[in-house]
Amino acid sequence: MLRVIVLGSAAGGGLPQWNCACDQCRAVRAGDLAANGQMSLAVSADDGVNWFLVNASPDVRQQIITTDALAPRPGRLRDSPIAGIILTSAEVDAIAGLLSLREGAGFSILAHPKTLSTLAQNSVFDVLDPARVPRIALTLDQPFFPLLPDGSRSGLQIDAFDVPGKVALYLERAAGVATPSGDTIGLTITDVHSGARACIIAGCAAITPAVEERIAGADLLFFDGTLWSDDEMIRAGLSLKTGQRMGHMSMSGPDGVIAGLAHLDIGRRVFIHINNSNPVHDPASAERQQAEAAGWCVPSARMEFTA
Ligand SMILES: [Zn+2]
Repeated sequence: MLRVIVLGSAAGGGLPQWNCACDQCRAVRAGDLAANGQMSLAVSADDGVNWFLVNASPDVRQQIITTDALAPRPGRLRDSPIAGIILTSAEVDAIAGLLSLREGAGFSILAHPKTLSTLAQNSVFDVLDPARVPRIALTLDQPFFPLLPDGSRSGLQIDAFDVPGKVALYLERAAGVATPSGDTIGLTITDVHSGARACIIAGCAAITPAVEERIAGADLLFFDGTLWSDDEMIRAGLSLKTGQRMGHMSMSGPDGVIAGLAHLDIGRRVFIHINNSNPVHDPASAERQQAEAAGWCVPSARMEFTA
């Protein structure tokens, strides 16, 4: 059985964002809406004995200490069931939490070589001593079977693949906005025993036939839900950027995620990486009702999915 816990499902900034007073952020401060951390997932194929995180968000410490399944296991003085952290990009949202996990645990970091190169170029990440926290390159389109820290099998298969996206914001000046490969990856994580399959795409600029092929037939789909509509941040006066410029599709509209994936056979559809400007955070909103009516789940923090 595959277990997936949504540690947080908000996009960069979280909900509420520290300097934001949009409708959703204000609702959280008023106690009318639940707070939500930045996107991170925990995945286990051995009924929760060991977990792999997908991304280490800046909120990861809080996310770990409020998730019972990620506490030290009974009878051990210093311990974590976190066996590895898979990074889907070098965005701050995905890697900053690594700096909070520097207390000597022996997990591995799995990422595309481009993301590993960013870590290597920023020596602050050496607080995670590579001798103790190995950095493992994921090759695109090639199955990988991660091991546990004791060298035994995890029961997981990871397939990393390219998705249309963009380079991390802080690397744009050096690299340009669009780069060919490896900046944003999607993951298919399979329980090798049951064959249950989760597809995780936290950032996606377009649904291409290649992306569809990865998603079709998944038992669980976790997909980029950054914005409800492409110009929502501009209309709300929050930013001058469209979703497309940020490398993300919108949920709604003829070119949106809901319409674009409607024809595919998928077990459960779950939005992740939801920006605080997106009204679907509010369970009472018309947009939330529309998303749910179309078969999508908008998860709260610590919601668990199994397949
Ligand atoms: Zn906000």
